[in-house]
Amino acid sequence: MDAYDVIIIGTGAGGGTLARHLAPSGKRILLLERGDWLPREPQNWLAQDVFVENRYVSEDTWYDADGNPFQPQIHYFVGGATKLYGAALYRLREKDFGELRHHDGISPAWPISYDDLEPYYTQAEQMYQVHGARGEDPTEPPASAPYPYPAVSHEPRIQQLADQLAAAGHQPFHAPCGILLDEPNMPYSTCVRCANCDGFPCPVHAKADAEVLGVRPALEHDNVTLLTNAKAVKLETNPAGSAVTGVAVEHNGATETYAGDLVVVACGAANTARLLLESASDKHPNGLANGSDQVGRNFMYHDSVAVLALSREENPTVYQKTLGLNDFYFGSDEFEYPMGNLQMVGKSQSPMFRGEKPGETKLAPGWTLEKVARHAIDFWLSTEDLPRSDNRVSLDGDGNFTISYTETNAEAKKQLYNKLRSLLGDLDMNPGHLFHRFMYMKTEIPVAGCAHQAGTCRFGHDPATSALDVNCKAHELDNLYAVDTSIFPSIGAVNPALTAMANSLRVGDHLLERMA
Ligand SMILES: Cc1cc2nc3c(=O)[nH]c(=O)nc-3n(C[C@H](O)[C@H](O)[C@H](O)COP(=O)(O)OP(=O)(O)OC[C@H]3O[C@@H](n4cnc5c(N)ncnc54)[C@H](O)[C@@H]3O)c2cc1C
Ligand code: SF4
Repeated sequence: MDAYDVIIIGTGAGGGTLARHLAPSGKRILLLERGDWLPREPQNWLAQDVFVENRYVSEDTWYDADGNPFQPQIHYFVGGATKLYGAALYRLREKDFGELRHHDGISPAWPISYDDLEPYYTQAEQMYQVHGARGEDPTEPPASAPYPYPAVSHEPRIQQLADQLAAAGHQPFHAPCGILLDEPNMPYSTCVRCANCDGFPCPVHAKADAEVLGVRPALEHDNVTLLTNAKAVKLETNPAGSAVTGVAVEHNGATETYAGDLVVVACGAANTARLLLESASDKHPNGLANGSDQVGRNFMYHDSVAVLALSREENPTVYQKTLGLNDFYFGSDEFEYPMGNLQMVGKSQSPMFRGEKPGETKLAPGWTLEKVARHAIDFWLSTEDLPRSDNRVSLDGDGNFTISYTETNAEAKKQLYNKLRSLLGDLDMNPGHLFHRFMYMKTEIPVAGCAHQAGTCRFGHDPATSALDVNCKAHELDNLYAVDTSIFPSIGAVNPALTAMANSLRVGDHLLERMA
């Protein structure tokens, strides 16, 4: 059996970041990734292939609580979900780390404070080359350094939107973007500023993803080995059940076992829980790290809403994801509870829409899908999803993997939507024309859109209510860690990847100390 100092399972935001952080230590590191390299091919940028034919979506079948099968929108590649992500790289707000009262209940505190994570947010912003502007967003937490790169500029229609929002008394800001764009020097810029970024892979490797800025730099070190198409299927322990001794991996049609002094799981929230549950043994009959029955519970996923408003003028914006608005993040005069974050999402393109005619009857005849897409200004509304014990992933006796989920904070989500609608008149858009994008895309099972999945193995001080301790080590095992979004005790309302990256760097420092 090959032996390593550290085995990292999964190469996304959590695992890829950790690999790069640990690589210079010279320790023997094995990276296990169930997927392959994402092929660089023309289809990377084709909306039909990516959005309609789901070219880069896993073929997994999962089940909802009623036993309905669905195909989760999940991506198995080197770099994980970050290969397809929108690279909006936000910090959680300072208050997100404390207990916060929401319309539907309490968002629990993290066991660490914002100040504990702040230095790592700064490092993560540097590693992932975040472009942004401090001081514009009133909810922005304090930062010890400026963004490493200037904000991505707004294109004219989005600048107009920013000006109109400001004129109406709001505080729009330049969204933090992880794209390798060098606007003053475009001939040398890696990013070409295209329309096919959010939800697409980037064939020119200009997206700040965990393959490009995590795994590849890590592999420049001889002490790091990557095994692709290597799916971890079980973690084996010593007879006492106190430490992981082997990682069983399906690789090239055979099962191989690898040993590591430290084992870090970073398979994404749902799959991390799954691996721990699948690793049940005599000593751990409910799965590893699961003595308190917390593994799999508190699944959260930002049941976000993508909406499109129809601009009176055409919207020729190419790269639309440059603006955010957090004025209602913690509530408003009319609604005292947190509502969430409003940001732009990649521009609608008609090939993204399934079907041939707009499904919305309020539109006058003559509105084709092409016309809808030309006039669309696309927003992404995220309200915090609260951790509920019964919102969980689980395995049945036949190995079927189920997500049981009941929506939380629906009222806050509705308030945020209505707020946006009430703004449209000031923004040169028709308030009667704000549509859910899924009306066009026809997503059948909302929980399948688990892009922002989190929770399932939360970290905390108390082994009775958490799976992992403050260093993200399993309370019940000496050498088992997790560093992906599974560790989140609460998810906030901003995009989760930067927080997973920052936490990986924090845990990485602990691992380096432990191995010194
Ligand atoms: C379309 C889309 C847009 C998004 N946009 C944004 C955004 O703009 N901003 C943002 O912050 N977040 C965004 N996200 C979410 C973000 O990508 C995730 O929060 C983040 O990648 C989660 O990191 P992770 O390490 O938990 O999991 P992942 O990045 O998913 O990594 C998990 C890895 O583990 C591998 N794996 C799983 N099981 C096994 C196994 N058994 N053995 C070996 N390997 C395994 C997977 O193949 C994968 O590579 C988006 C996601 C999607 C899908
Ligand atoms: S906008 Fe830049 S980073 Fe995004 S896909 Fe296009 S070239 Fe790649």
